[in-house]
Amino acid sequence: MLWSSELDCATSIRGVLCPDDGVWNCRLDGKTLQIGVHSGPLGSPGDSQSEIGDADVFALVVHYMDVITLDQLRDTCTLLRDHHGKVAIFLYREEGEVDYKMSCPSCGQKLWVRDTDVGKRGRCPNCKKAFMLPDQTEHIRAELALGPEIVITRVEGGNISSFKSAMRMLVDQLGE
Ligand SMILES: [Zn+2]
Repeated sequence: MLWSSELDCATSIRGVLCPDDGVWNCRLDGKTLQIGVHSGPLGSPGDSQSEIGDADVFALVVHYMDVITLDQLRDTCTLLRDHHGKVAIFLYREEGEVDYKMSCPSCGQKLWVRDTDVGKRGRCPNCKKAFMLPDQTEHIRAELALGPEIVITRVEGGNISSFKSAMRMLVDQLGE
């Protein structure tokens, strides 16, 4: 199951993975995975409990990484790990997108970080505080306190092979 916290992102994933009926059958290494795409916060009680029960594996698709999205993700990760444990994070980019959105660690102002600026010192346009611009993967791993057993990988809108290789990582996890 792919779960997205952001509607635009989920719509785009549906366009890539399941053009017809909303469910995508993916054959990888002799196994067939049935993948549904769901959007919206998964943390609310009763919301998706039956879906949680059915799925073997979850990929949480993240586009933005502001404080609200990270809070939702943190809740969802906790919920899913209590249930199953097989969780991966797919960092979603639109085709050709070379930056990502995060919140200023001091004041929470939303800002964009270009890949080419990662590792440099940036200054928040709102509170003027300087901070090291983090790598997107390291940022989310640190913010959600995720161990190395949680796969974090990049997927690109419109690029089905990027989703396939990300799903392959999940299949490999299932086999362990
Ligand atoms: Zn700030």
